[in-house]
Amino acid sequence: MSIFEIINKKKQGMELTAQEINTLIADYTTGKIPDYQMSALLMAICLKGMTTRETTGLTMAMANSGDVMDLSSLTEKGGKTLDKHSTGGVGDKTTFIVSPIMAALGYSIGKMSGRGLGHTGGTIDKLESIPGLRTELSTKEFLDITARHGLCISGQSGNLVPADKKMYALRDVTATVDSIPLIAASIMSKKIAAGAEYILLDVKTGSGAFMKDLESARELARAMVDIGNGCGRKTAALITDMSVPLGCAIGNSLEIIEAVQVLKCDPAAPADIAEVSASLAAHLLHMVEGGDLAACREKVEEVLRTGVALAKFADMVEAQGGDRKYIEDPTRFENAKNIVPVKSPKSGFVSEMDTRGIGVAAMMLGAGRETAEDTICHSAGVYLYVKPGGYIKEGEMLALLHTNNDKVLAAAEEKLLASIKFSQSVPQEVPLIHAIVS
Ligand code: URA
Repeated sequence: MSIFEIINKKKQGMELTAQEINTLIADYTTGKIPDYQMSALLMAICLKGMTTRETTGLTMAMANSGDVMDLSSLTEKGGKTLDKHSTGGVGDKTTFIVSPIMAALGYSIGKMSGRGLGHTGGTIDKLESIPGLRTELSTKEFLDITARHGLCISGQSGNLVPADKKMYALRDVTATVDSIPLIAASIMSKKIAAGAEYILLDVKTGSGAFMKDLESARELARAMVDIGNGCGRKTAALITDMSVPLGCAIGNSLEIIEAVQVLKCDPAAPADIAEVSASLAAHLLHMVEGGDLAACREKVEEVLRTGVALAKFADMVEAQGGDRKYIEDPTRFENAKNIVPVKSPKSGFVSEMDTRGIGVAAMMLGAGRETAEDTICHSAGVYLYVKPGGYIKEGEMLALLHTNNDKVLAAAEEKLLASIKFSQSVPQEVPLIHAIVS
């Protein structure tokens, strides 16, 4: 069937065969199919959707469009390979907590992550705030570090899922990003190509997330879990809250410092990031070992309490060329030149946050990129002193802005204040974990 006929078939809402999808993705990746025909097909998929069978076929075809990681060196002696993936948000530093926990429990979690763009931060940018740490690793280095320490976090290898790189760039300019089958295939193709046998997805919902409402988050989680299981990987998802930034720290080194607080079981660590991280780790352990979820949670708490997870993180930092002293003593991280308080404009309960807006304020301060070419400042960001449910008096400190660029302070403060609502009554509590999809 020609690409013209494939587009026409999808336009009529018919199911594409695995053979058609394989040819389509192979020919698009090698340039035999032009962008204008792929654009038409992507729009047809956006409007007509895809069945689970089609989405699974699309994911497999995309995953096989480039290099596929061979993790057999990690599994040959009975080891188990795990992965976790967050759909992204503001202040999400769970990877730096969940990965060392799983390594401390004896599993291998080699993660390939990306950089931040817009209001969401990127795992790789955050990690690179640790002096000396390298995220561009050869496949051999990646596998060696994962084998030795149980964890490694690197940038995505050059030729992993080239089909997704081309398709995402096209979707970005053809208004076809917001399609559940296309998002699910895009994310899952990278997870499948990365090779792990167990995949836990953290699908965020709320004002700082890709999926603003619970229903669409559920739909995306369901689609991705079905794809993962359909591709032979044990996959589950937690739908977690992103109507509020996770933790208090937003910005690269600020987030590493907060993650280390959680790994150290510091009582000053924000409760929400500690809880979401421990929950994710317990569910991932439960996927692998089965049995009782409460017992899995207890094992997670134990490797935190005994410092084994913290030591794993420091080992990984060192193995990737970073200075482990920054993990042992995070006061070593360089501060931004300007650390400026934002005072509360009124007395009352903080009731709601436009989390995306807060992420944008952090980006304006230098923590993130507006375009892929922008450079970031590792010490910039926002530290929130009050979160929804907290009471604050007029003139008290609401947040600290960290930046090396004093010219952006006024605009970032304005953006931050416009993103926070107050009320005179106690706001309704929002759950941290909305649902589990397995
Ligand atoms: N993240 C991805 O990797 N792909 C999408 O399509 C959307 C978010």
